[in-house]
Amino acid sequence: MRRFFIDPATVGDAKATITGDEAHHICDVLRLKPGTDVELFDGNGNIHQARIQQTGKGRVEVAILATRTATGSATRLAIGVALLTGKKMDLVMQKATELGVDTIYPFVSRHCSIKEKNANKEDRWQRIIMEACKQCNRPTVPKCAPVCDLADLLATGATYAERIIFWEQERSRTLHDLLPAATPRPSALALFGPEGGFNSEEISHAVAAGFTPVSLGSRILRAETAVIGGSAILQFLLGNLNTTPR
Ligand code: SAH
Repeated sequence: MRRFFIDPATVGDAKATITGDEAHHICDVLRLKPGTDVELFDGNGNIHQARIQQTGKGRVEVAILATRTATGSATRLAIGVALLTGKKMDLVMQKATELGVDTIYPFVSRHCSIKEKNANKEDRWQRIIMEACKQCNRPTVPKCAPVCDLADLLATGATYAERIIFWEQERSRTLHDLLPAATPRPSALALFGPEGGFNSEEISHAVAAGFTPVSLGSRILRAETAVIGGSAILQFLLGNLNTTPR
């Protein structure tokens, strides 16, 4: 069944109105007709089974047949991703969404080759995230925070129960040491460096802010591989790959 996003404010008693890009997609691209069943996500975890009643003028009226609410993950995983070059941020946004990451904090650090914080990329990234949610059947939409400095993100870390910084020069501590199975944690924030890596001063600041440097193995992974692989391993260790999809 086709999946679309719906603004929760338009959901009334057993009916709702789809507008904007999603309505355009239904009417002009897919040309779906009244009587077609669709699935609607409101981004807050509600999933509506609905039937198209009427289309036209940038609006689609639907009847809601049934609603269920997805339960959240055991632990909220947030990741901090240093600004990467080319299309790598797009890739990271898409894959983090598929892997169930809750919040993505793009940040600038010493060895980032891109340093503009106001590149207005957040809208583009949020659109990529929405598309990924539809594709992977995820009813809650992860948040992409505005680009910040590493120092600000280290301070934000205080709101997370577990703080991790993946460091290519860490030799001994692995994720197994840090997150032994069956230790429940309400939230975790994991940071990934840019193509140029983290320097030791940045790692010292992170340690002072309560972050633990962790290795992903003896091979140096490309930054985007580290984000995707590291997020997948964390989600597994936190028990977030076998709960209801979100
Ligand atoms: N240019 C650096 C590598 C940077 S890799 C060098 O050649 O040393 C980019 C980021 O991916 C790193 O900052 C780190 O966060 C993560 N990463 C890559 N490989 C890793 C590993 N083996 N262990 C931990 N983190 C790793």
